[in-house]
Amino acid sequence: MQILLTVAELRQWSRAHRSAGRSIGLVPTMGALHAGHASLIRAAAASCSQVVVSIFVNPTQFGPNEDYARYPRTFDADCALAESEGSAAIFAPSVEDLYPAGATTFVDVEGLSNRLDGASRPGHFRGVATVVSKLFIAAEPDRAFFGQKDAAQVAVLRRMTTDLLLPVEIVVCPIVRDADGLALSSRNIYLSPAERARALVLSQAVHKVESLAATGERRASVLLEAAHQLFAAVPEVRIDYIALVDWATLLPVEAAIPGTLFAAAAYVGATRLIDNAVLDSDALREPSRRLEIRTLEERDREGYIRKPQNADESRLGEAEVSIPLRNLPSSLHS
Ligand code: AMP
Repeated sequence: MQILLTVAELRQWSRAHRSAGRSIGLVPTMGALHAGHASLIRAAAASCSQVVVSIFVNPTQFGPNEDYARYPRTFDADCALAESEGSAAIFAPSVEDLYPAGATTFVDVEGLSNRLDGASRPGHFRGVATVVSKLFIAAEPDRAFFGQKDAAQVAVLRRMTTDLLLPVEIVVCPIVRDADGLALSSRNIYLSPAERARALVLSQAVHKVESLAATGERRASVLLEAAHQLFAAVPEVRIDYIALVDWATLLPVEAAIPGTLFAAAAYVGATRLIDNAVLDSDALREPSRRLEIRTLEERDREGYIRKPQNADESRLGEAEVSIPLRNLPSSLHS
């Protein structure tokens, strides 16, 4: 695995592979890699022929009283993990390399940057959008891989990529959790054992809202109240936000539909943690637009399935998804 220390080295590496017809996957990180990062690298290696993992603790996305100076830095272990997951290169630039002396140019995704995490961390998303656009310009990747764990960041970066006409496909990977549900984060190492136990309220709230949505509950007031009740039982954990929003705009919604984002952020001691779920339950669809997805056994019991009448019919494929006739556009009704 190659270690690239400057933008010039990264660009040379990327262009050499591109001119040999190879696709490039970029996984931007701040290091202190864990199984969540590993899942991004694996996804990148599965769909791109060359993967570069950037490791850069980006000063412009930290507020003055945040943990920039003490953010965990574990470079040798990070390199070993990245290589074992299929990364071909690490990009580890210096601050001076990504921010040339006198740099005054920033990328500000207006509106979105001030919502959710952006509301309590002023300037955070400006720093994120600025560094990620620099990484895109330097690495020229075909695809870049991000975790749904940072769902608001995904919304900001999708908007930025579209607005700046950057030819990069954004791939979002699922949240990786510890066995008890806590979303993996490089910041979990800050938690004392007691705080670690209290931190579970975030994933419990996410789980609760997901299960309510799976029963067809769409009302934001009900979904948010259920989450608030769980947090109320753990008063040591200070809520930053609990929100039900449109994932593209990060604006609050009154009712959930498939694709709505439930997100929470809270301080557990001095550590700020986030978690979320993209609600995708079929129960959230309008009943008239709901796809009926059943196992063959269920459909058999309900009398939907006509028994094969002959050997030819027995060989026909068995569709798992049936769309009730009433849901088809009327032009298709014969
Ligand atoms: P970070 O190093 O914290 O900036 O994270 C780098 C990338 O890893 C971001 O796209 C994160 O969303 C992603 N990531 C962090 N934690 C997780 C997790 N538990 N599951 C999936 N992706 C994650």
